[in-house]
Amino acid sequence: MKDIIGIECNSCATQWRIEIEIGKNEIETFATLCECGAIIVGNRRNKVDDEIAESMSIKERYLTNGSYSIISIDHEIVNKLPLLELE
Ligand SMILES: [Zn+2]
Repeated sequence: MKDIIGIECNSCATQWRIEIEIGKNEIETFATLCECGAIIVGNRRNKVDDEIAESMSIKERYLTNGSYSIISIDHEIVNKLPLLELE
């Protein structure tokens, strides 16, 4: 299962789609580099049941290292963005 989110790099303002593979860990860590060289690192909280997840804000569910912002988790928007592969 994958979680697909839209992000915007705070250095170059490029918007990307990233696809986070959801594993068994409570916290999923993901990392990559933007084309401009900015280091994109974040965490996603995995083990919350669906009802809690629905009521969680993006800021509660995802943690960023500050070099990017999460702009959307709406698949219709996110799927139009270019994919930034995770490392
Ligand atoms: Zn960038």
